[in-house]
Amino acid sequence: MSDTHSSGTATIPLPPTERGSAGRVAVIDARGRGSRAAQSVESAAQRGPVLVLVDTLEDAGALVAAGATHFLLDPCEPDAIALAVRAAGGGLPQRHGATAAIAPGPLHRWLAGRLANGANCAVAAVALSRLDLVHAAHGRSRTDAAISALLERLSIAVEGHAIIARAGGEHVLLAMEDGSTDHMLAILGEELTRPVLTGGVRVVLGSRVGFATPEPGDDAEAMIRRAYQALHGARESDGATIHLAEPEGVAPIDALAVDLHLGLSRGEIGVVFQPQVEVASGRIVGVEALARWEHPRWGPLGAATLFAAAERADLGIALSDQIQALVLSRAAAWPRALGALRLSLNLTAADVARRGFAATFLDRVDASGFPRGRLTVELTETGMIREMKTVAGLLAELRAAGCRIAIDDFGTGYSSLAYLKALPLDYVKLDKALVDEIAGSPRDRVVVRGVIDIARALGLAVIAEGVETPAQLALLSAEGCGWYQGFLCAGPLREEELVALVEQS
Ligand code: C2E
Ligand code: CA
Ligand code: CA
Repeated sequence: MSDTHSSGTATIPLPPTERGSAGRVAVIDARGRGSRAAQSVESAAQRGPVLVLVDTLEDAGALVAAGATHFLLDPCEPDAIALAVRAAGGGLPQRHGATAAIAPGPLHRWLAGRLANGANCAVAAVALSRLDLVHAAHGRSRTDAAISALLERLSIAVEGHAIIARAGGEHVLLAMEDGSTDHMLAILGEELTRPVLTGGVRVVLGSRVGFATPEPGDDAEAMIRRAYQALHGARESDGATIHLAEPEGVAPIDALAVDLHLGLSRGEIGVVFQPQVEVASGRIVGVEALARWEHPRWGPLGAATLFAAAERADLGIALSDQIQALVLSRAAAWPRALGALRLSLNLTAADVARRGFAATFLDRVDASGFPRGRLTVELTETGMIREMKTVAGLLAELRAAGCRIAIDDFGTGYSSLAYLKALPLDYVKLDKALVDEIAGSPRDRVVVRGVIDIARALGLAVIAEGVETPAQLALLSAEGCGWYQGFLCAGPLREEELVALVEQS
């Protein structure tokens, strides 16, 4: 691409990095031009990444459609633009093999001890990515404060299960016990994506994780090296955190985050309903509402992608509000055929952490006209534990108001039975992972049986999730599980499909 300087367009050659794809990034200054810049974007996009400088996100949708890959909102300093250009070309220049040296400290010693005893363990290497963009947006001192706050939050979240070491620069290492790796990775994923509040500003830090389990002959050094190699692979793949199996390739999460600003106002967020079935009678007695995004370019996107984009755009709460209102208004207007169904609605950890959420939520329910008594709210165990004190009060308030409460994804997190006793609950939703185990070895089955027995002894109803086969259902039924959800009956359905299914059963 040749350098051009006409009509606010310039291309800046990038320093060579390891990424083969990194070359020149076209910078289009669309400030004050809005969608009129689309044509410049389109021609530049044919040759590589395009960073667009904008003063509002109003026309971002049109610019993305024209091929914009990155945006810089209201840039005020030339430095910010240079940094954004570097990010657009492939993130921070990487050190080859990225094995940021760590001094042998407690993490090293802990690992060496485990390996010497032949005990299982795992190592995760985390790189905080796109710090250049964060610097550009928030300044260096706030970025540093955000990193410290994130690490502190992470240490608290994994305490007792993992050891954390800051490995210099943007790298963090975690060593963890084998039995808790899934749980630790889930916590990592969650903690790393949640925005950090510093000085009243919500800062979102991007990250990549590489993960290694021991191989024969590994010492601590070798394991750490392999975790870094995995991290390196994760960074090299393409710079996007979300992959869509689409012919056009990949939708970078940042582009989705920009799209979401528009999607919320254009009514692209929809809802589908998955039946909940009473095992004994085979009757559909309720539904769980699940969010979907009708993306104008990528087609229907699932809830995981939607919430990841929302997280990146700092729109989690706004999205949650909109979905709740939508679900309630739809259900309040259901036809007679669905008039007896219960409705289950997912809450996020961020929702329940909000002050006064119970009152806001109940107002919303009442305004919709949907009866409180037919409503269940679902919250994951992690969400409950994180805000334990607030949550216990909140759940009690909702319950006193007539709603029922379900603990979601049970069996994937701590699965602490103590919470079942301590929190005001009505349902336990057995996670699909546990449901899959029931058809496994007799030992696997013991765990599922134990959970069901205890839940029932505490007076809680058990709903199995992700039931796909008659064999699973038969075993669950034999263990005393009362309700299920899963493809065996139906996946998430549009309202008219749900009506047809209910009428036919
Ligand atoms: P979840 O609450 O555990 O929802 C169940 C997920 O499992 C849904 O994925 C559903 O489509 C999928 N599923 C249902 N039956 C089966 C089955 O038999 N086999 C398999 N393999 N999968 C099954 P979905 O819709 O992608 O949702 C993912 C997660 O996103 C949900 O997990 C929930 O935590 C969250 N979510 C979805 N919609 C909303 C929402 O409206 N608000 C909030 N706050 N969270 C939501
Ligand atoms: Ca759920
Ligand atoms: Ca679930």
